[in-house]
Formats: sequence, C-alpha cells, structure tokens
Amino acid sequence: LFLPVLNAPVPAIAPEPDPAAAPRTHGAKLWLPKRVLFTPDALQEEYGQQILARATALNLDVELLKSNRLTGLRGDDERATYRTAKTTLAVVNAPAGALRLQPTPPSADYQLNLAEGCPAHCQYCYLAGSLSGPPVVRAFANLPKLLANTQVYERADRPVSFEASCYTDVLGIEHLTGALAEAVRYFAGREGGRLRFVSKYDHVDSLLGLPHRGHTRARASLNAEPLARQLEGGTASIEARLQALRRLALPVAQGGGGYPVGVLLAPIMPLPDWRRHYGELLDRVRAAFDFDCDLTVEFVTHRFTPGSKQVLLGWYPGTTLDLSETGRAVKRNKFGGVKYVYDMPTMKELKAWFYAEWQRRFPHAPIQYWT
Ligand code: SF4
Repeated sequence: LFLPVLNAPVPAIAPEPDPAAAPRTHGAKLWLPKRVLFTPDALQEEYGQQILARATALNLDVELLKSNRLTGLRGDDERATYRTAKTTLAVVNAPAGALRLQPTPPSADYQLNLAEGCPAHCQYCYLAGSLSGPPVVRAFANLPKLLANTQVYERADRPVSFEASCYTDVLGIEHLTGALAEAVRYFAGREGGRLRFVSKYDHVDSLLGLPHRGHTRARASLNAEPLARQLEGGTASIEARLQALRRLALPVAQGGGGYPVGVLLAPIMPLPDWRRHYGELLDRVRAAFDFDCDLTVEFVTHRFTPGSKQVLLGWYPGTTLDLSETGRAVKRNKFGGVKYVYDMPTMKELKAWFYAEWQRRFPHAPIQYWT
C-alpha cells in the first residue's frame, strides 16, 4: 500500500551530476551510416529510389540486396551487434501488418511508423525490448501507402492524431529519408488527420518552409541537463533542441516554421537536486518561448520492464542509469506484462511539482498528460 506523501523527500536514485558543468550548446552530428542496405522490394518503390539518390549523393556505402530478408547483422557478441546495427540503415518495405495501426495513448490516437530504430544512444532507450533483433534503423520505402492508409482511421467527428515517433527519431534520419517532410505535406491536405512527432535532434531546416496548415505538431524531447549529458549519446544538446523548436514555432513572417509545438519532458527522474535542475530547464524553455505560440507539454516519468532492463544492460554495460527495482511500483498491463515505475509517493511529489512549476511559467500552454 502506498500512501501519497506530498512533501516527503524523494530518494536520490540517479547519477550525481557534475555541478561545475555548464549547459552544452552543440547541435547533433548528422548520422551517416556505414552501410545502407536496400531490399529488392524497396527499390521497386519510387520513394525507395529517392532514398537511394540521397544515400548516393552523400557517398554512403550502398548495398543492393538480392533478397528481401535482412541477414548478417549480428556481430560476435551483443556489443558488436549493437555497434554494427547502429551504423546500418536498411531501406525495406513495411510489412502488411504495418497497415493495422496500433492505438498509442496517451500521446496520440494511433502509431504511424515511418521507420523503426534510431541512430542515437540513449541509455534508457524506449526501444530496448520493444523491437526485436539487432537495432538497425529500418526506413520504410512504401511510405505513400503507409500515409494513405491513415485515411481508414480518420473519423467524421474530430481529427485523429498519428504519432510518428513511437519507434524512431524521425528527425534524426530525415536527411537520409525525407519521410517527415512527406508526412507533413500529406497531413496538410487532410482535414481528418493530424501528425505528431518528437525529437532529440535539431536539423529542422528542411521543415521550415513546408505547407503544414497547422496539422503537424513538432515536439522536442527535453530533460535536465545532467541527465541529457550523461544518458543521451549522439543527440543534440538541450539548448540546440530548444532553439530548433523555437525556429519551428516562430511565425513564418519572422523566418520560422509557424508550427504548433510541444515539449516532452522525458524520462523524468528524481536525480539529486532535481527541483533545481528541472527548474533551470523550465526557465530555459520559458526563455526560448518568449512569444505567442501554440505550445503544449507532456510529462513522462522513467520506467522499465524486465526485458528492457536486460537489453539495456547488454547494450550499455557501464551505464549509470538506475535500473534498480527498489523504490519502484509494479504496473501490470492487460496481458500480464510488468513495468517498473516510481512508487506512488515519489510520483505524487514529482507530479505536483511539475504541474505547479509548468503552470506558473506557462498558464496558457496546456499539459497533455502525466505518465
Ligand atoms: Fe531511443 Fe529515443 Fe534515444 Fe533514439 S532518441 S536512442 S529512440 S530514447
């Protein structure tokens, strides 16, 4: 039994930050995979050919496969498999099952996966344990079909939202695929559909001039500076993400993209001195959004499953991420699956603080959910 104790001290469970470290400002390096594989089916697609042209223009090592099956992606051990996979882009057709869209509450009505796998190296990665096989980035060449399929899920009474970031960071691979721009253009023409994506990258130039009609919400995933620094390898700094999101949100007349935007604070962890670190983050968001815009926020606390813990410890054996079950509550889904979330007193304390601090700074920017 957990009783809510709003002002109880929250246990220190994450790595000790370096107090002397100043916020970083660098952008993300463009991901250039060592190998780009194309299946025969993918090359039949006009959009697959477009990706081939991009990969060739970037002088990447392209391999045209003889079969539609991806093989030879494993190394001698888990670390070697991880290294190979994270430097491989495979361009494939999404299987027929991808046309049956899965609900994805609370973030959106349905998943819309333009790709699976991600070039970044977050030590808490949400994909660990949810995608099978080596973590290769798979870009889907039958994109037009995937986009057109969303019409089946539209409704007459309200727009239906589609989340493009469940299994990838779409912006992190956009220079290789162009899929996000295609999707933004597509949803601009749909009255009944809305697109959402979230990213830890900052390469937004190709999105700025697109005719989106306000049908795409661009979000940045943000975290306290010490956590981003220690746990989010290969991503843009928090400052670069904030400035990229600001550019997307600024009015077109001021050189911006004029998009509805959002911040996703995730995964929230009660690191030592968490109020100060997250307070500084919220102050930085406030400084970046010093103009009127359509801004939302989502709060996601850290969680893991037994399966994701095992995969993450294989990928990042030296991680400083706290994956201990102590101080956690067990949540079961309807299929009996288990995940570990913070216990109720911790959750209550975090939630009360984040809601109050957000609303104080952003009285007109709605909180979409806490989980
Ligand atoms: Fe995983 Fe998201 Fe980080 Fe990519 S950006 S490594 S999907 S947590």
